[in-house]
Amino acid sequence: MSYVIQQRKKIVIILVLSFFVVGTLAIFVVRDTTQFFIEKQAEEVAKIVATFAKTARSVYSDVAIAKLKSDGYGSHVDSEIHEGYIPIPAQFLKELGRATEQNTANLFHYRPVSRWNIEPTQGLSNDFLKWAWPQLEAQDQANPTGPINWQPISRIEQENGGNVLRYLTADSATSAGCVACHNHYETTENVKKFREQAGTPLGKSWKQHQLLGALEITIPLSRIEQVAEEQLNRAVLWISAIFIGCLALIGGVYFFNARLHRNLENLSWEANHDSMTELLNRRGFEREAEVLWEEATSGHKEHTLLFLDLDKFKAINDTYGHHAGDAILKAVAAQLSSERREYDLVARLGGDEFAMLLPYCSFDVGELVGKRVLQKIESIRVDWQDSVLTVGASIGLARMDENSQSVQKVIEQADTASYLAKKSSDNKVVAYSDTLNSRESSV
Ligand code: GH3
Ligand code: MG
Repeated sequence: MSYVIQQRKKIVIILVLSFFVVGTLAIFVVRDTTQFFIEKQAEEVAKIVATFAKTARSVYSDVAIAKLKSDGYGSHVDSEIHEGYIPIPAQFLKELGRATEQNTANLFHYRPVSRWNIEPTQGLSNDFLKWAWPQLEAQDQANPTGPINWQPISRIEQENGGNVLRYLTADSATSAGCVACHNHYETTENVKKFREQAGTPLGKSWKQHQLLGALEITIPLSRIEQVAEEQLNRAVLWISAIFIGCLALIGGVYFFNARLHRNLENLSWEANHDSMTELLNRRGFEREAEVLWEEATSGHKEHTLLFLDLDKFKAINDTYGHHAGDAILKAVAAQLSSERREYDLVARLGGDEFAMLLPYCSFDVGELVGKRVLQKIESIRVDWQDSVLTVGASIGLARMDENSQSVQKVIEQADTASYLAKKSSDNKVVAYSDTLNSRESSV
């Protein structure tokens, strides 16, 4: 697998992992925030319930009891045995609590409670009340001059496998009438007896605005929590689907782009290479040599170009067939490739003509390379049917330096030198020289 593909695979894995890590964190934060809002909203609802209950009691007092009072009657703690009297406001509140309990059991629970309540179901009957009541008492004042700024006490508890908000808000002695009435009850024999049995202090006396009782409100949260969870799951599903969709889209675009890129690369490779030997072709060679030529002409660098033409190659074709000739061409290409340094250019210019451009290689060294290359070519042995094929070559050398007119010109010069090598009986490597006539240069 190529390095690029490995890197891209890594990017995709990092992207997906980041999505899961960031997504998980985001879900955690959203869930936490949602829970916070649910609890805050439940506290608001509890406040509404408490306000509504107290308002109902005030209306009861101000409308019903006031009217009866103006008719010569009023409210009485034992109203059932006193004709023309109705229950006192505290009793009304208890009744309201009981009725609410029956009608709204699934939405919320509400009841008046107090440490001082004689009715057993409305005392400090659970852990929450035992924990919260002292905190309300702590806010009470010895001699209040006006309404106390009571802070409700609340906490989240588990009930029947779901969360509930438990909320306790003070129900203070708002009017002087309330205070007088309750203080009076504390002096009655019934109440004194009850206090002794319950272990609550005797002789309790309130001042106006002090803590007389409280309203306990319980709001189940499981239903709204379930709605929030469903909503969150839906959002996670949508976001995941969008992310996967985007990833698939990017992947698709990338895939088509990569294929296009590969096709273009193939086309470009084919345009610049010889498909049989996989060496550069003349076009590719000239293009790459152009860069070195510019360097040579501008920066006083010297390169050496070798031009090779196989000797009597046609005879191999004629004797053993075209495929045998191809096998020789491939063997020569392999030999030249094995001889090249990393940055040497090796090309098949066409037919049985090859070229090597040796960057930063002096002419003298180039000549040595030429001789070595020649030996290598002469050492080629190709087994063909019952025969062993060999081949020779004529090599011409040309300089590529600041005086070189063009790449083509340098190739032409090396070609000329190779022609002279071919003509010569003893020199198979010939260097081109300006001082000699073309086709008469010699090493
Ligand atoms: P010389 O010694 O003077 O160089 O002559 P030669 O026989 O080597 O022939 P020459 O260089 O003049 O021509 C090259 C021959 O190579 C011509 C052609 O038949 C043959 N040839 C060109 N391309 C291919 C090829 O792709 N495969 C094969 N097998 N032969 C080719
Ligand atoms: Mg030839």
